[in-house]
Amino acid sequence: MNYVSTRGIDNEGVSSAFAIKTGLAKDGGLYMPESIPMIDLDFIGELSALPYTERAARILSLFLTDYTIDELREDAEGAYGGGKFTPEPAPITSLGDSRYMLELWHGPTSAFKDMALQIMPRLFVRALRKTGEERRALILVATSGDTGKAALEGYRDVEGTMIKVFYPTGGVSSVQKLQMQTQEGSNVSVEGIVGNFDDAQSGVKRIFSDDAIRRELDGAGVFLSSANSINWGRLVPQIVYYVSAYADMYRTGAISLGEEVDVSVPTGNFGNIFAAYIAKRMGVPIRRLVCASNKNNVLTEFFKSGVYDKNREFFTTMSPSMDILISSNLERLLYLTLGQDKTRGYMEELARLGRYELSAEDLAAISESFVGYYTDEEECQATVKEIYEKKNCLIDTHTAVAIHATNAYMNDFKAERKTLTVSTASPYKFARDVLNSLTDAKDIGDLEALEALNKLTGVDIPTPLASVLNKQPRHTGIIDRSEMEAATVSFAKS
Ligand SMILES: *Cc1c(COP(=O)(O)O)cnc(C)c1O
Repeated sequence: MNYVSTRGIDNEGVSSAFAIKTGLAKDGGLYMPESIPMIDLDFIGELSALPYTERAARILSLFLTDYTIDELREDAEGAYGGGKFTPEPAPITSLGDSRYMLELWHGPTSAFKDMALQIMPRLFVRALRKTGEERRALILVATSGDTGKAALEGYRDVEGTMIKVFYPTGGVSSVQKLQMQTQEGSNVSVEGIVGNFDDAQSGVKRIFSDDAIRRELDGAGVFLSSANSINWGRLVPQIVYYVSAYADMYRTGAISLGEEVDVSVPTGNFGNIFAAYIAKRMGVPIRRLVCASNKNNVLTEFFKSGVYDKNREFFTTMSPSMDILISSNLERLLYLTLGQDKTRGYMEELARLGRYELSAEDLAAISESFVGYYTDEEECQATVKEIYEKKNCLIDTHTAVAIHATNAYMNDFKAERKTLTVSTASPYKFARDVLNSLTDAKDIGDLEALEALNKLTGVDIPTPLASVLNKQPRHTGIIDRSEMEAATVSFAKS
């Protein structure tokens, strides 16, 4: 299977290994498979009897045709086996009333990014070999929280790679900071940047576009790469858990084989929900995708009116991983529903004006499968409280945004189908806001909130988060923005 750009200028197909190694197509578009492989109900029935690792290998092999099934089995086992995810990678719980929840945060960093970032480094290292690359890769990441830690944990001690993460000292929670500062591994580096997320991000972009640095690193046998969610290697592992979830709902008798379900996803960069859409296009009986946003509701407006407009106020919310104005992977949805020419046109408008507007016909094509809702801060807190009190289930703030959207959707559409709402983080990762939703703790610090929430609810703190509290920070460096280049070069040469 070959991969092509969503914008279609650079239309020569490349292998999946090449797409994973390079991330972005030359014309600025994103890589997509030339066609979507189809599966049938028999295949899903067969998967339902298999463990997650084998499901993953079989589904990945439909997309990554230049990887052997044995390579994919080894990678899936390395990523999801061996007790790394407890109790399992993607368990489903019932909330009653035909509502189910898919929990994706049982991995080493307690957020759903682990589902992709545990396996992507393995696929990436194979991609280097398959494309004849001899240099070492230096993965550079600017993070607002979850991605940094998940990438560090995924790339630590992976041969042929080094990883350096910059986090803004003024922009991550104490739990997130401690998670990164205590990171183990011989090929990792973490540094705080004085400033906010934009400062860290623009510093990383500057380094990527600096030819002198590239040449200097090349001389040292190193090249730069990124781990962000526009890379196909991060997207493709996410398709797996939607197929797997459907197989599990069938296996446990929640649905009959072939019965349609609706899926609701807390959305930021549009990677997770787009993976659900690919599962639908492959033949998994999913009827509608509910795109759940917080107060940064650019996508809600898009699905309602066809207008995408990033020229708007940016809000910092209690679901920070969804605080985003440009959802990069939306481009992939435009490509799959409208084709390359229209996608290129709309993306050019977005770059020029910060805005584009779908034609009525194009909006109709997209609304056939998608509907958007948003949840404000009070509704988010009220949902955390309600689900805890009525269902005895402790959820995080991102998940609450999606549950609120599911409720609104079921109310509006009177759909009779069962719903699957995606849960993306452990409530303990955002303990302070969760605690504040349940009680009025107000001024408590992040780390104290972990223990207080545990005391209040009796729900166990996930081991990876609990153990962070007892570890000694190893990476305490804080540097100025202007020092990022030098720090990167010196790490590459270390
Ligand atoms: C990254 C993240 C999201 C958003 O996922 P996208 O794929 O960017 O849409 C939602 N919730 C949590 C907890 C996240 O870390």
